[in-house]
Amino acid sequence: MKMPSPIASLATFSVFVAGLVLGGAVATGCSSTSHHGGSGGGGGSGGESGAGGTSSSASSGGSGGQAAGGSGGKAAGGSGGTAIGGSGGTATSGGGGTATGGNGGASDAGMGGGTSADAGAPVHVGWPTYEQAEAAPLSTPLLIILTDFSDSDIATFLPNPDVAWSNLMFGRNQGQGNHYWYEVTAGKLQLIKAHESYGQADDGVIRVKLSESKPTSGTFVVEDQPWIPEALDQAAQYVHFADYDRDHNGSLSNRELSVLFVLNLENANTASAGAEANIVINHAIAGSGVSLEKFLRIVHRYASIGTPCHELGHHILGLTHAPNPTVHDLMGMGAYAEDPVLTTRYSSTDHYATRPTGPTAMGRIMGGLVTPTSITDTTLGVKLYSPQGTNYNVIKLPITGGYLYLENRTADGYDRSVPFCNGHTGGIFATDPAQYLQPLDIPGISSRNPAVSYDGNDDETICNFYALKGYNDTFTIGQYTISNVSEAGPVMTLDITRNNTPSVIGNYKYEYWIKDPNRSGYQMRHFVPAPPGATTDIDFSTFPSGTDPTAWFTMNLIAYYNTGEIRSVNADATWTSTSSYLTLQPAKFQNPGTTIGDAIVHLQINAGVTHASTVVVNISHGSFSTSMRLINVP
Ligand SMILES: [Zn+2]
Repeated sequence: MKMPSPIASLATFSVFVAGLVLGGAVATGCSSTSHHGGSGGGGGSGGESGAGGTSSSASSGGSGGQAAGGSGGKAAGGSGGTAIGGSGGTATSGGGGTATGGNGGASDAGMGGGTSADAGAPVHVGWPTYEQAEAAPLSTPLLIILTDFSDSDIATFLPNPDVAWSNLMFGRNQGQGNHYWYEVTAGKLQLIKAHESYGQADDGVIRVKLSESKPTSGTFVVEDQPWIPEALDQAAQYVHFADYDRDHNGSLSNRELSVLFVLNLENANTASAGAEANIVINHAIAGSGVSLEKFLRIVHRYASIGTPCHELGHHILGLTHAPNPTVHDLMGMGAYAEDPVLTTRYSSTDHYATRPTGPTAMGRIMGGLVTPTSITDTTLGVKLYSPQGTNYNVIKLPITGGYLYLENRTADGYDRSVPFCNGHTGGIFATDPAQYLQPLDIPGISSRNPAVSYDGNDDETICNFYALKGYNDTFTIGQYTISNVSEAGPVMTLDITRNNTPSVIGNYKYEYWIKDPNRSGYQMRHFVPAPPGATTDIDFSTFPSGTDPTAWFTMNLIAYYNTGEIRSVNADATWTSTSSYLTLQPAKFQNPGTTIGDAIVHLQINAGVTHASTVVVNISHGSFSTSMRLINVP
């Protein structure tokens, strides 16, 4: 269990992004994919473009689409698509025909071929068609602005980038943006190509060239540069921005038009911020009569769907970063998961972020993709349907301070990237969003509750966070026992049994950061009991930067309930220092999507006051009181 401050969460994430930058193995290329079976029905279902290609529609019984340089179209009840430069899709004619996906189309220049990683994926009975999905309320117009400097040319990295980026983000094949959103939202969200007149018109992508030359040294905060306003003003010659101001308020919101800048800038020159969303600009676009409220951007080497889809998760759905572990979540490490076959547009070998996982239940709830179903009493045989099926659902149980959400995730579709342990292929995940949208550590419910010390790392294994038959399959939290969890699969069952144990706080612990004694340069959270009426020694010299009086130090007081819940009580506790040298400054906040707030309790060391190497702090929470004696204070 971790109680990260929002600052800590962001810092953790930044560290990861920086790691990516340092990794630098961002290469290029794309693979076209074959497509899974046709959707059946009487008429031809029309072509779907492979990467790098365009396709035509098929009329009833007609021929499938054609794709130049990509995989062929699929057609039910007609002849399959053909592909120039690749082998086409084939179709079994007749109603309900299933099409065997063609082999991956090879390629226009610079793009490798590939075979589908999607073969055999189920057809989603009852889902909307892509066309219906595009008309769904959450579907959002997207304009991609490929942004070059005066002396740079994004086409030297990726030929025909206008079309290539359009296919990457709007395409409907495995590893392409609209396929991803269709699959992970059950057809509730599509990216709609913005109308524009650049290059291949109306493919949603334009290119502009800035007056400044490309920085090759130093680091730049993009928002502080004139680049984005200049690019927007240039874009107005290709885009009628005012057409997207649906509410006629003179300003374009994210949902009216999302504008994604693909900047021809290297990560090394971006101050470790190669991708970002919801950046406020409020720029009045020259000659357009409207302004753009916010934009999102990536550097051009993020040429696979993971990074832009993560940023679009922020920008369109309003999602926040998830707490660890996040390998199963688009809003964390899961965004960067790799398809074993598909590669980025820049490479024939780099699979980075080509098969992002879907969002977790919390993300789907926050994004308006699912409404959870409340259960408050004993209910046996509860069914949980995975997101790849037709009836995906989330169960909501009331617990102290909020709710527990239960969902079924299985290794299917994009969730094949979820790194289940021990050969598992799925399970029930629980999220406790009261303060931190926190995935529930199932064995941690009982192991962390006793009044003993323990450590918590940010690299927690996902193995503790799901349940299936024979594995974490009985646990109690709050008034509910989850038991009889079934095998993993598209439909899982479990029993929910209500007990009437009142939730009361069983013990308190301090939580603070220490240097990880086993990993040089790392830090970890340390939890020690805070017994009532007693004084606990806490050694500053174990803190990261613990000898530097100007460094940033925080302390948390955590309540452990007898029913398993773990809650920070920083905001409700009273913190009183006995020395003016070290004072405590709680700052209250509440994370988006949560039900109760928290506070960051800053241990402020006051320069100019007589040094005290030992400081006692008295803390009370309701009728509970305890003290900590900070020693070796710098
Ligand atoms: Zn993010």
